[in-house]
Amino acid sequence: MASVREPGYFDEGALVSVLTTQPLDRTLDYRAPEGGCVEGAFVQVPLGPRQVMGVVWGPGRGDFDISRVRPVTRVLNVAPMREEMREFLTRAAAYTLTPMAAMLRLATRAPGLTDPPSMRKIYRLGDAEPARMTDARTRVLDVLASHGGAGFTLKELCDEAGTSSSVVKGLVQTGAVREEAAPRDVAFPRLDSHRPGKALTEDQQSAADRIAEGVRTERYGTTLLRGVTGSGKTEVYLEAVAQCLRKGRQALVLLPEIALTAEFLNRVEQRFGARPAEWHHGVTMTERRRIWKMVGQGGAELVVGARSALFLPFRDLGLIVIDEEHDGSYKQEDGVLYNARDMSVLRASLCGAQVVLASATPSLESWANAEAGKYARVDLESRFGDSLLPEMKAIDMRKERLETGRWISPTLRAEVEERLANGEQSLLFINRRGYAPVTLCRACGEQINCEHCDAAMVEHRFLKRLVCHQCGETRPMPDKCPSCEAEGRLAPIGPGVERLTEEAQAVFPDARIATLSSDLFSSARALKERIETIAAGGADLIIGTQLVAKGHNFPLLTLVGVIDADLGLQGSDLRAAERTFQLMRQVSGRAGRADRPGTALLQTHQPDHPVIRAILTGKEETFWQAEAETRRAMEMPPYGRLAGLVLSSTDAAEAMRIGTELARHDGAIRAIGAQVFGPAPAPIARIRGRHRVRLLVKAPKGAPVQDAIARWLGPLALPKDFRLSVDIDPQSFF
Ligand code: ADP
Ligand code: ZN
Repeated sequence: MASVREPGYFDEGALVSVLTTQPLDRTLDYRAPEGGCVEGAFVQVPLGPRQVMGVVWGPGRGDFDISRVRPVTRVLNVAPMREEMREFLTRAAAYTLTPMAAMLRLATRAPGLTDPPSMRKIYRLGDAEPARMTDARTRVLDVLASHGGAGFTLKELCDEAGTSSSVVKGLVQTGAVREEAAPRDVAFPRLDSHRPGKALTEDQQSAADRIAEGVRTERYGTTLLRGVTGSGKTEVYLEAVAQCLRKGRQALVLLPEIALTAEFLNRVEQRFGARPAEWHHGVTMTERRRIWKMVGQGGAELVVGARSALFLPFRDLGLIVIDEEHDGSYKQEDGVLYNARDMSVLRASLCGAQVVLASATPSLESWANAEAGKYARVDLESRFGDSLLPEMKAIDMRKERLETGRWISPTLRAEVEERLANGEQSLLFINRRGYAPVTLCRACGEQINCEHCDAAMVEHRFLKRLVCHQCGETRPMPDKCPSCEAEGRLAPIGPGVERLTEEAQAVFPDARIATLSSDLFSSARALKERIETIAAGGADLIIGTQLVAKGHNFPLLTLVGVIDADLGLQGSDLRAAERTFQLMRQVSGRAGRADRPGTALLQTHQPDHPVIRAILTGKEETFWQAEAETRRAMEMPPYGRLAGLVLSSTDAAEAMRIGTELARHDGAIRAIGAQVFGPAPAPIARIRGRHRVRLLVKAPKGAPVQDAIARWLGPLALPKDFRLSVDIDPQSFF
C-alpha cells in the first residue's frame, strides 16, 4: 500500500475516509484514485449500486475489511473543500446537533457539481471578410471589433448589435464570425472597489472607519451596527465591503427577504460598477452552480443572498454583513435548524473575517452581546438628510366607534383621507394573510379546521379557497357548513389583509389600493416589480402584511396605520414583547423617508401597555434594559439557554409515552444544572396528520447543552414512524 507522501495528500491506493451526502452517521473508507487526491477533494464514490458525491475527509479509518475497500471513482473538477470549511461544518453540526451528511448537503446545494463543465456557444471576430455586407452585418462586426476580442453569447451579441440571430449565423457561415464552445461557469465581473462612494456624514464616516479598521486587520470581530431606518447603515457597510474587496478578500451580504435584493443589487452596481452574485431559491440552477464554483475559485468577489449563502465554499471570506439581523427568517425552521446570524459569527471566527450585524431594532441577543463587550457597537443616531423620524401616536380603540366587522377607526380614516387629498401614500399594516383567520358556521357554531392539522382553515378570497397555514392544504370555499350542512351560514371572523382591502375599497372608493401579501404573488420577480411600481407612485394606499415591514423604500409614504398593534402581544411567546417592538418600529419606519415628515398611528386597546408605550416614546435603550431584566430574572435567553424538542408520530398516545420516558430519565440534563419541561402537546398539536409532543430543555448560560442532550438522547431508539427534532436556541414554539 502506498504511504501518505505529505500531509493532506494521498497517493493512489492510499486509504481515505470520505464523508458523503448520504444519511449515514459515519465516513466511509475508499482507496485514493489514480493520480491520488488531496484532503478536502470533492469526489464521486460507489455506494452499493450507486455513485454518490462526497468529500475526502482525512486518512482512512481502517476499520473495514481491507479487501473490500473500493477505489474513489473520480475526483471532481471543483476546488477542494478548504480545511476552514470542514471545520465550520463540523462545528456547526456539533452546535445544531445535525448529522454531518446533512451539513454537507447544505454546503453543496448546487446541482450538477458532478457533471463535466457544461459548455455554451460564444461568438468572436473571425478572419474572413464576408463577400456581401449589409447594415446589420456591419453592426455585428463593429460590436465584436470594439470589444477587444471578447466573446459574446448569441443573445448578448444580437441585443448589442440590434439584429436577429440569423444575421450572426450567416456571418458564421462566411467565416467572418467564429463560433466556439466555452465553459458556462464564468467568473463574475470585477467590482471596482476604488470608486468613491457617497460622501458620508461625520457620523457615518466614523462608523465606516471603525468597521473598515476591523476588516483591515483580517481578524475576527463582530460589530453591531445600530441605526434607525434611513440613517445610512447600508452606505456604511458598503464602505466595509469596499475595504474588504481592496484587501482582495470576498464579502457576503445576507438579506432577510429576496424581494429586497433588487434594490440592493442596484445600489451595489452604482457603488462598484458591476453586479454581484445573487444567491437565493429564486435563482436558476445553472446560475447557482456557477456561483458555487466561482465562489470557490475566487471568481465571485461579493455574494448577496439568503441565509444558505453562508454555506458557500468561499475561498477567502473577509466580511459577512447580516442586514436586519433581528429578522426571524435567518433561522431555518425545517431540515437543519440553524440560525444564519449565529453561524455567521462561527464561520467568521474560523476564517478571520469581520461580521456586521445591521439593524434599527437589534435582537436582544445581539444587544446583550454588545453590552457584554463581545461585540463592538456602532450607532447612527439620525436619519440621513432632512428626513425626520415619524411621529408616533396611539389610537385608543376603546374610544373609537366602529361597527362590527370594521377595523379602520374614524381617526385613522380621517388621516388617510388627508393623505389622499395631498397626493401622499398611506400604508395600512395588518400581520395576517388571507381574508379572515377563522370561518365559523352561524348555525352550529363549528369552526372550519384543517383535516390534518389542529389549525383553522383560513379563507383566501382572492383564491376563492380555504388554506391551512400549517400544511398548505387548500380546498374550495364551501357553500354549506361541513359539519351541519346549513347553507349560507358561514361567516368570516376577524380581519386578514384581504378583508381589510375590501373595507378600504368601501371607505376610500377613489383610492388606488395595492395589497401586498406574500401569497398574492406567484414569483419573487412579480413581487419585486409590484413594489417598484408602488414606490414610484403607482398606488395611493398600500395594504400589507409583514412583507412591507422589511426595508422597502416608499418615498411617497407619509402615513402608517397599524390596524392591530396588540396582536403580537397576545400569546406566551418568550419574544412576544421584543418582536412586537421590532415589528412596530420597523413598520413605522416606512413613513416619511424622503422630504415629507411621516406619522405612524397604532390602533390599540391597551395604550398604557409597557411595550406599546416603549414603541410610542421610542426609548429603545429603556425598552432593551427592561426586557433584559425580565429575561435575566427568568434565566431565559440570552441569559440562559433553551433547546426545544418535538416528538411527532401518527400515534398521539405513544408519542406522549416516549416523551414521558425521556423526561423521566433526565439524568444527563440534570447533571449540567439544566431542567426538562414537558412533555406537553405542542400548541399546534397536529400538523399533516402527525401528533406533536413538545419538551423544553432550559439550561444555565454557560452549560454544555449539546453534549448533555446528545448523552440524554443517545440511548433512545425511536420506533418507526416517529420523528424527533431538536432545536437549539429555538425561535418558535408552536
Ligand atoms: P438604512 O440602511 O439605515 O436604512 P440607507 O443606507 O438605505 O439607510 O440610507 C437611506 C437613504 O439615504 C438611501 O437612499 C441612501 O442612498 C441615502 N443616503 C444615506 N447616506 C447618504 C449619504 N452620505 N449621501 C447621500 N445619500 C445618502
Ligand atoms: Zn393543515
